[in-house]
Amino acid sequence: MDDTVLVLSGRKYARVVRSSLKERVSLLQGSPPGLTVVMVGDDPASKVYVGAKEKACKKVGFNSSVVRMPAESSEADVLKVVEELNSDSDIHGILVQLPLPDHISVDRIASAVLPEKDVDGFHPVNVGKLWRGEDGLFPCTPSGIIGLLRHHHIVMTGKNALIVGRSNIVGKPMAALLLRENCTVTVAHSRTVDLAEQCRRADILVVAAGRAEMIKKNWVKPGAVVVDVGMNRNSSGKLVGDVDYHDVSQICSAITPVPGGVGPLTIAYLLENTFKARSRQQIARPN
Ligand code: NDP
Repeated sequence: MDDTVLVLSGRKYARVVRSSLKERVSLLQGSPPGLTVVMVGDDPASKVYVGAKEKACKKVGFNSSVVRMPAESSEADVLKVVEELNSDSDIHGILVQLPLPDHISVDRIASAVLPEKDVDGFHPVNVGKLWRGEDGLFPCTPSGIIGLLRHHHIVMTGKNALIVGRSNIVGKPMAALLLRENCTVTVAHSRTVDLAEQCRRADILVVAAGRAEMIKKNWVKPGAVVVDVGMNRNSSGKLVGDVDYHDVSQICSAITPVPGGVGPLTIAYLLENTFKARSRQQIARPN
Protein backbone atom coordinates (compact mmCIF):
# COMPACT_ATOMS: atom_id res chain seq x y z
CA MET A 1 0.00 0.00 0.00
CA ASP A 2 1.15 3.55 -0.78
CA ASP A 3 2.13 5.21 2.54
CA THR A 4 0.54 8.47 1.46
CA VAL A 5 -2.92 7.01 0.89
CA LEU A 6 -5.50 8.05 3.46
CA VAL A 7 -7.35 5.05 4.88
CA LEU A 8 -10.90 6.15 5.60
CA SER A 9 -11.68 4.05 8.65
CA GLY A 10 -15.40 3.70 9.16
CA ARG A 11 -14.70 1.77 12.34
CA LYS A 12 -12.95 4.78 13.91
CA TYR A 13 -15.49 7.29 12.61
CA ALA A 14 -18.40 5.14 13.86
CA ARG A 15 -16.82 5.35 17.34
CA VAL A 16 -16.82 9.15 17.05
CA VAL A 17 -20.49 9.11 16.02
CA ARG A 18 -21.46 6.78 18.87
CA SER A 19 -19.64 8.77 21.53
CA SER A 20 -21.24 11.99 20.31
CA LEU A 21 -24.65 10.30 20.45
CA LYS A 22 -24.00 8.97 23.95
CA GLU A 23 -23.22 12.47 25.11
CA ARG A 24 -26.27 13.97 23.39
CA VAL A 25 -28.49 11.26 24.92
CA SER A 26 -27.14 12.08 28.40
CA LEU A 27 -28.26 15.69 27.94
CA LEU A 28 -31.82 14.80 26.91
CA GLN A 29 -34.82 15.44 29.08
CA GLY A 30 -37.59 12.84 28.93
CA SER A 31 -37.44 9.37 27.50
CA PRO A 32 -34.37 8.28 25.51
CA PRO A 33 -34.60 7.59 21.78
CA GLY A 34 -36.45 4.32 21.16
CA LEU A 35 -35.87 2.02 18.20
CA THR A 36 -37.92 -1.07 17.40
CA VAL A 37 -36.84 -3.62 14.83
CA VAL A 38 -39.46 -5.89 13.28
CA MET A 39 -38.02 -9.21 12.18
CA VAL A 40 -40.11 -11.68 10.19
CA GLY A 41 -38.71 -15.20 9.97
CA ASP A 42 -35.32 -16.34 11.19
CA ASP A 43 -32.84 -15.57 8.43
CA PRO A 44 -29.44 -16.25 10.10
CA ALA A 45 -27.74 -13.09 8.71
CA SER A 46 -30.71 -10.95 9.83
CA LYS A 47 -30.42 -12.41 13.34
CA VAL A 48 -26.79 -11.26 13.48
CA TYR A 49 -27.65 -7.75 12.19
CA VAL A 50 -30.59 -7.36 14.56
CA GLY A 51 -28.41 -8.48 17.50
CA ALA A 52 -25.76 -5.93 16.51
CA LYS A 53 -28.39 -3.16 16.30
CA GLU A 54 -29.73 -3.99 19.78
CA LYS A 55 -26.21 -3.97 21.23
CA ALA A 56 -25.38 -0.65 19.55
CA CYS A 57 -28.58 0.92 20.92
CA LYS A 58 -27.78 -0.14 24.48
CA LYS A 59 -24.23 1.22 24.25
CA VAL A 60 -25.44 4.75 23.51
CA GLY A 61 -28.35 4.69 25.97
CA PHE A 62 -31.25 4.15 23.55
CA ASN A 63 -34.25 1.96 24.32
CA SER A 64 -34.43 -0.87 21.85
CA SER A 65 -36.79 -3.74 21.26
CA VAL A 66 -37.33 -6.42 18.66
CA VAL A 67 -40.68 -7.74 17.49
CA ARG A 68 -40.01 -11.26 16.23
CA MET A 69 -42.66 -12.70 13.95
CA PRO A 70 -42.84 -16.17 12.39
CA ALA A 71 -41.97 -16.53 8.70
CA GLU A 72 -45.58 -17.58 7.98
CA SER A 73 -46.96 -14.23 9.23
CA SER A 74 -49.21 -12.61 6.64
CA GLU A 75 -48.60 -9.15 5.22
CA ALA A 76 -51.67 -8.01 7.17
CA ASP A 77 -50.10 -9.29 10.42
CA VAL A 78 -46.95 -7.29 9.76
CA LEU A 79 -48.92 -4.18 8.78
CA LYS A 80 -50.87 -4.46 12.05
CA VAL A 81 -47.63 -4.54 14.07
CA VAL A 82 -46.29 -1.53 12.14
CA GLU A 83 -49.55 0.35 12.85
CA GLU A 84 -49.21 -0.33 16.58
CA LEU A 85 -45.62 0.88 16.58
CA ASN A 86 -46.61 3.97 14.58
CA SER A 87 -48.97 5.00 17.35
CA ASP A 88 -46.59 4.29 20.27
CA SER A 89 -45.07 7.63 21.29
CA ASP A 90 -42.11 5.98 23.07
CA ILE A 91 -40.95 4.44 19.80
CA HIS A 92 -39.22 7.02 17.64
CA GLY A 93 -37.76 4.75 15.00
CA ILE A 94 -39.14 1.63 13.29
CA LEU A 95 -37.02 -0.62 11.14
CA VAL A 96 -38.37 -3.62 9.29
CA GLN A 97 -35.44 -5.97 8.81
CA LEU A 98 -34.91 -7.14 5.23
CA PRO A 99 -35.18 -9.55 3.58
CA LEU A 100 -38.88 -10.20 4.17
CA PRO A 101 -40.45 -13.52 3.15
CA ASP A 102 -41.46 -13.52 -0.53
CA HIS A 103 -45.21 -13.27 0.15
CA ILE A 104 -44.76 -9.87 1.87
CA SER A 105 -44.34 -6.72 -0.22
CA VAL A 106 -41.33 -4.69 0.90
CA ASP A 107 -42.82 -1.60 -0.76
CA ARG A 108 -46.16 -1.88 1.04
CA ILE A 109 -44.46 -2.39 4.41
CA ALA A 110 -41.99 0.48 3.83
CA SER A 111 -44.88 2.76 2.93
CA ALA A 112 -46.81 1.79 6.08
CA VAL A 113 -44.12 3.05 8.47
CA LEU A 114 -44.82 6.66 9.43
CA PRO A 115 -42.33 8.85 7.49
CA GLU A 116 -41.19 10.51 10.74
CA LYS A 117 -40.33 7.07 12.22
CA ASP A 118 -38.81 5.69 9.01
CA VAL A 119 -35.18 5.43 10.18
CA ASP A 120 -34.24 3.39 7.10
CA GLY A 121 -35.27 6.28 4.85
CA PHE A 122 -37.23 3.97 2.55
CA HIS A 123 -40.66 5.65 2.72
CA PRO A 124 -41.61 7.44 -0.55
CA VAL A 125 -42.06 10.70 1.40
CA ASN A 126 -38.45 10.55 2.63
CA VAL A 127 -37.21 9.52 -0.83
CA GLY A 128 -38.99 12.57 -2.25
CA LYS A 129 -37.51 14.84 0.41
CA LEU A 130 -34.05 13.50 -0.33
CA TRP A 131 -34.29 14.33 -4.03
CA ARG A 132 -36.02 17.67 -3.42
CA GLY A 133 -33.21 18.79 -1.09
CA GLU A 134 -35.50 18.93 1.96
CA ASP A 135 -34.79 17.71 5.48
CA GLY A 136 -35.90 14.15 6.23
CA LEU A 137 -34.66 10.69 7.19
CA PHE A 138 -32.31 9.24 4.60
CA PRO A 139 -30.80 5.76 4.09
CA CYS A 140 -28.14 4.92 6.65
CA THR A 141 -25.27 3.56 4.53
CA PRO A 142 -25.06 6.51 2.08
CA SER A 143 -25.62 9.01 4.91
CA GLY A 144 -22.74 7.41 6.80
CA ILE A 145 -20.51 7.69 3.74
CA ILE A 146 -21.20 11.43 3.46
CA GLY A 147 -20.45 11.75 7.19
CA LEU A 148 -17.16 9.87 6.75
CA LEU A 149 -16.08 12.04 3.79
CA ARG A 150 -16.95 15.22 5.68
CA HIS A 151 -15.14 13.96 8.79
CA HIS A 152 -11.99 13.63 6.67
CA HIS A 153 -12.55 17.04 5.03
CA ILE A 154 -12.82 15.49 1.57
CA VAL A 155 -13.86 18.24 -0.83
CA MET A 156 -16.99 17.20 -2.71
CA THR A 157 -18.16 20.43 -4.34
CA GLY A 158 -17.48 20.43 -8.08
CA LYS A 159 -16.02 16.91 -8.11
CA ASN A 160 -17.02 14.23 -10.59
CA ALA A 161 -18.62 11.43 -8.60
CA LEU A 162 -19.39 8.04 -10.07
CA ILE A 163 -21.55 5.54 -8.24
CA VAL A 164 -21.48 1.96 -9.43
CA GLY A 165 -24.87 0.48 -8.53
CA ARG A 166 -28.41 1.87 -8.61
CA SER A 167 -30.21 0.08 -5.77
CA ASN A 168 -32.79 1.93 -3.70
CA ILE A 169 -30.78 1.17 -0.55
CA VAL A 170 -27.35 2.38 -1.63
CA GLY A 171 -26.80 3.57 -5.21
CA LYS A 172 -29.73 5.94 -5.77
CA PRO A 173 -29.71 7.63 -2.35
CA MET A 174 -25.92 7.94 -2.62
CA ALA A 175 -26.40 9.77 -5.91
CA ALA A 176 -28.93 12.14 -4.34
CA LEU A 177 -26.70 12.86 -1.34
CA LEU A 178 -23.61 13.53 -3.47
CA LEU A 179 -25.71 15.83 -5.64
CA ARG A 180 -26.68 17.70 -2.48
CA GLU A 181 -22.94 18.02 -1.77
CA ASN A 182 -22.57 19.71 -5.19
CA CYS A 183 -20.84 16.83 -6.94
CA THR A 184 -21.46 16.21 -10.63
CA VAL A 185 -22.96 12.76 -10.34
CA THR A 186 -23.03 9.78 -12.72
CA VAL A 187 -24.72 6.50 -11.81
CA ALA A 188 -23.44 3.33 -13.47
CA HIS A 189 -25.06 -0.10 -13.47
CA SER A 190 -24.87 -3.49 -15.13
CA ARG A 191 -25.89 -2.06 -18.54
CA THR A 192 -23.33 0.77 -18.49
CA VAL A 193 -21.07 0.71 -21.54
CA ASP A 194 -17.33 0.83 -20.80
CA LEU A 195 -17.55 1.03 -17.05
CA ALA A 196 -13.75 1.20 -16.74
CA GLU A 197 -13.67 4.44 -18.74
CA GLN A 198 -16.49 5.91 -16.64
CA CYS A 199 -14.59 5.00 -13.47
CA ARG A 200 -11.39 6.64 -14.74
CA ARG A 201 -13.22 10.00 -14.96
CA ALA A 202 -14.29 9.94 -11.31
CA ASP A 203 -12.71 12.07 -8.60
CA ILE A 204 -14.95 10.27 -6.11
CA LEU A 205 -15.77 6.65 -6.88
CA VAL A 206 -18.38 4.85 -4.79
CA VAL A 207 -18.81 1.18 -5.60
CA ALA A 208 -21.90 -0.74 -4.51
CA ALA A 209 -22.27 -3.54 -7.03
CA GLY A 210 -21.73 -6.64 -4.91
CA ARG A 211 -19.01 -8.01 -7.25
CA ALA A 212 -15.83 -9.12 -5.49
CA GLU A 213 -12.81 -6.93 -6.35
CA MET A 214 -14.22 -5.86 -9.74
CA ILE A 215 -12.57 -2.40 -9.64
CA LYS A 216 -8.97 -2.70 -10.78
CA LYS A 217 -6.08 -0.28 -10.45
CA ASN A 218 -6.18 0.79 -14.11
CA TRP A 219 -9.88 1.73 -13.72
CA VAL A 220 -9.10 4.40 -11.15
CA LYS A 221 -8.01 7.99 -11.73
CA PRO A 222 -4.76 8.79 -9.89
CA GLY A 223 -5.62 10.67 -6.70
CA ALA A 224 -9.29 9.64 -6.66
CA VAL A 225 -11.23 9.03 -3.45
CA VAL A 226 -12.55 5.46 -3.44
CA VAL A 227 -15.44 4.26 -1.28
CA ASP A 228 -16.07 0.53 -1.30
CA VAL A 229 -19.54 -0.48 -0.13
CA GLY A 230 -19.35 -4.07 -1.33
CA MET A 231 -19.27 -7.02 1.04
CA ASN A 232 -18.44 -10.26 -0.67
CA ARG A 233 -16.75 -13.55 0.08
CA ASN A 234 -13.98 -14.39 -2.37
CA SER A 235 -13.15 -17.92 -3.54
CA SER A 236 -11.17 -18.58 -0.34
CA GLY A 237 -14.02 -17.37 1.87
CA LYS A 238 -12.35 -14.06 2.81
CA LEU A 239 -14.52 -10.95 3.20
CA VAL A 240 -13.60 -8.55 0.37
CA GLY A 241 -15.11 -5.44 -1.16
CA ASP A 242 -15.92 -4.53 -4.74
CA VAL A 243 -12.52 -2.85 -5.09
CA ASP A 244 -9.15 -4.55 -5.46
CA TYR A 245 -7.90 -2.83 -2.30
CA HIS A 246 -4.26 -3.84 -2.50
CA ASP A 247 -3.69 -2.49 -6.01
CA VAL A 248 -6.12 0.44 -6.00
CA SER A 249 -4.70 1.84 -2.74
CA GLN A 250 -1.43 2.40 -4.64
CA ILE A 251 -3.00 4.92 -6.97
CA CYS A 252 -5.88 6.63 -5.13
CA SER A 253 -5.57 9.38 -2.49
CA ALA A 254 -8.07 7.91 -0.02
CA ILE A 255 -9.89 4.59 0.30
CA THR A 256 -12.23 2.71 2.63
CA PRO A 257 -11.01 -0.76 3.63
CA VAL A 258 -13.17 -3.89 3.80
CA PRO A 259 -13.82 -4.79 6.55
CA GLY A 260 -13.77 -1.70 8.78
CA GLY A 261 -14.76 0.85 6.13
CA VAL A 262 -18.37 1.45 5.18
CA GLY A 263 -19.74 -1.53 7.15
CA PRO A 264 -19.66 0.04 10.66
CA LEU A 265 -21.25 3.26 9.39
CA THR A 266 -24.64 1.71 8.68
CA ILE A 267 -25.54 0.98 12.30
CA ALA A 268 -23.95 4.24 13.51
CA TYR A 269 -26.21 6.19 11.15
CA LEU A 270 -29.23 4.10 12.11
CA LEU A 271 -28.63 5.45 15.61
CA GLU A 272 -28.17 8.99 14.22
CA ASN A 273 -31.45 8.67 12.34
CA THR A 274 -33.25 7.44 15.46
CA PHE A 275 -31.91 10.38 17.45
CA LYS A 276 -32.95 12.75 14.68
CA ALA A 277 -36.41 11.13 14.46
CA ARG A 278 -36.93 11.66 18.20
CA SER A 279 -35.82 15.30 18.01
CA ARG A 280 -38.19 15.96 15.11
CA GLN A 281 -41.06 14.23 16.91
CA GLN A 282 -40.39 16.28 20.06
CA ILE A 283 -40.61 19.47 18.02
CA ALA A 284 -43.83 18.29 16.36
CA ARG A 285 -45.37 17.02 19.62
CA PRO A 286 -43.65 18.67 22.61
CA ASN A 287 -44.35 17.11 26.04
P1 NDP B 1 -28.05 -4.71 -5.29
O1 NDP B 1 -27.77 -6.11 -5.73
O2 NDP B 1 -29.42 -4.33 -4.91
O3 NDP B 1 -27.55 -3.70 -6.43
C1 NDP B 1 -26.35 -3.90 -7.11
C2 NDP B 1 -26.22 -2.84 -8.17
O4 NDP B 1 -24.96 -3.01 -8.81
C3 NDP B 1 -27.28 -2.91 -9.26
O5 NDP B 1 -27.73 -1.61 -9.58
C4 NDP B 1 -26.55 -3.54 -10.44
O6 NDP B 1 -26.99 -3.08 -11.71
C5 NDP B 1 -25.13 -3.07 -10.21
N1 NDP B 1 -24.17 -4.02 -10.76
C6 NDP B 1 -24.07 -5.34 -10.52
N2 NDP B 1 -23.06 -5.87 -11.22
C7 NDP B 1 -22.51 -4.87 -11.93
C8 NDP B 1 -21.45 -4.80 -12.86
N3 NDP B 1 -20.72 -5.88 -13.18
N4 NDP B 1 -21.17 -3.60 -13.41
C9 NDP B 1 -21.87 -2.50 -13.07
N5 NDP B 1 -22.90 -2.51 -12.19
C10 NDP B 1 -23.21 -3.69 -11.63
O7 NDP B 1 -27.01 -4.45 -4.10
P2 NDP B 1 -27.00 -3.37 -2.91
O8 NDP B 1 -26.99 -2.00 -3.46
O9 NDP B 1 -27.99 -3.74 -1.88
O10 NDP B 1 -25.56 -3.72 -2.29
C11 NDP B 1 -24.38 -3.59 -3.05
C12 NDP B 1 -23.22 -4.14 -2.26
O11 NDP B 1 -23.07 -3.37 -1.08
C13 NDP B 1 -23.38 -5.60 -1.79
O12 NDP B 1 -22.11 -6.20 -1.77
C14 NDP B 1 -23.90 -5.45 -0.37
O13 NDP B 1 -23.56 -6.57 0.43
C15 NDP B 1 -23.16 -4.21 0.06
N6 NDP B 1 -23.83 -3.46 1.12
C16 NDP B 1 -23.07 -3.08 2.18
C17 NDP B 1 -23.61 -2.36 3.20
C18 NDP B 1 -22.74 -1.95 4.32
O14 NDP B 1 -23.23 -1.61 5.37
N7 NDP B 1 -21.42 -1.95 4.12
C19 NDP B 1 -25.02 -1.94 3.19
C20 NDP B 1 -25.72 -2.31 1.99
C21 NDP B 1 -25.13 -3.05 1.00
P3 NDP B 1 -28.48 -3.34 -12.28
O15 NDP B 1 -29.37 -2.38 -11.55
O16 NDP B 1 -28.36 -3.03 -13.72
O17 NDP B 1 -28.79 -4.76 -11.98
